[in-house]
Amino acid sequence: QFQATGVQTCFHGRHIQPQIYAGLDGTNWRLKDYEARGGYQALRKVLGKDGGPGMTPDEVIAEVKASALRGRGGAGFPTGLKWSFMPRQFPGQKYLVCNSDEGEPGTCKDRDILMHNPHIVIEGMLIAAYAIGASVGYNYIHGEIFQVYERFQEALEEARAAGYLGENILGSGFSFQLHAHHGFGAYICGEETALLESLEGKKGQPRFKPPFPASFGLYGKPTTINNTETFAAVPWIIRHGGQAYLEVGKPNNGGTKIFSVSGDVERPGNYEIPLGTPFAKLLELAGGVRGGRKLKAVIPGGSSAPVLPAEIMMDLTMDYDAIAKAGSMLGSGAVIVMDETRCMVKSLQRLSYFYMHESCGQCTPCREGTGWLWRVVDRIERGLGRPQDLELLDSVAENIMGRTICALGDAAAMPVRGMIKHFRHEFEYHVEHKTCMVPAYV
Ligand code: SF4
Repeated sequence: QFQATGVQTCFHGRHIQPQIYAGLDGTNWRLKDYEARGGYQALRKVLGKDGGPGMTPDEVIAEVKASALRGRGGAGFPTGLKWSFMPRQFPGQKYLVCNSDEGEPGTCKDRDILMHNPHIVIEGMLIAAYAIGASVGYNYIHGEIFQVYERFQEALEEARAAGYLGENILGSGFSFQLHAHHGFGAYICGEETALLESLEGKKGQPRFKPPFPASFGLYGKPTTINNTETFAAVPWIIRHGGQAYLEVGKPNNGGTKIFSVSGDVERPGNYEIPLGTPFAKLLELAGGVRGGRKLKAVIPGGSSAPVLPAEIMMDLTMDYDAIAKAGSMLGSGAVIVMDETRCMVKSLQRLSYFYMHESCGQCTPCREGTGWLWRVVDRIERGLGRPQDLELLDSVAENIMGRTICALGDAAAMPVRGMIKHFRHEFEYHVEHKTCMVPAYV
């Protein structure tokens, strides 16, 4: 139920104002195709190789700030602001890292971008590297997706051969070396500091923050880390302007976003739509609820986001602010749709097991708490729950939240609180009747 649906792009007109998917047909990923779509023009503009004056790093950052591009990996932090945190006059090495680890259950958009439009990520990283003054970059790619890693490697070789990567790029004096790195599939390595540890060859466990990566990142050097989709948005912003990008979305939520729609829909897959598009429209693009059944609930931003009932979701727009106001989060844009046959207790049992399994074990509230969450939900699901278990779950969740090194603790606790808040009656029914109230599971 919570597995990502694999690489399923819907190429044929089921996007709205696409920027990253524009012109893609599932086969045209090579450099020549990308250039034919206007690829690497943004880089030429920045470096002054399009006949124009070029842009300074500060001008690039100002354009990205004006676009209101927010990090697409989950946190939604303003990208331009993040870039501006990098020290300007640092005498040593600075790094740029792309987070393609993408382990959030329900999310399959980054692997899709890397398969079908890898050069847009390379170009976005080149522009970011120029803006922050980095000369070396890495793309950390999720461990289980070999084909994507190989595709990105091929794209890197094409870019190097064409002079877009390496020394003195396009004769501009700007140099950037970019490498692909294959992870090993641990969910926690999508957390930015765990990713850096892993990239350094160590055990992938999150670091205490502060210091933040902008001052102490890869190998202790200033580092900027952004998500794959975030980098993929940058070339459009530079070519068309930050203001134009902002206007595609809504204030504070610039541009388009790729949503991975999975679960009980007719056409699961990735859909690129402007931020601020009604959820009802996204559901329609995905073919509606499977089998004509009734919509019950939606997890709007990956498994870490609290679930929202259908009656709330159908009135929402898909953007960071609207989803947050409703008590959940847009996260990575993984939209998990659940119809009337889904049992919320069973769903939470699955989710809780995932977080217990993926906890790195470094801090006690997460290591012990995720285990307790799963054990209590598991016994409720198996008909062994006690009336006081709902309060116990709330208490364990409360004692995890805000008390851990990284956000995995909160990510494990929030779905528990969301499920009990909106579907408490299902949990109570399980405890009282020792079985499920949803017909499909009886
Ligand atoms: Fe590890 Fe969990 Fe602590 Fe994060 S919150 S550092 S995953 S134990």
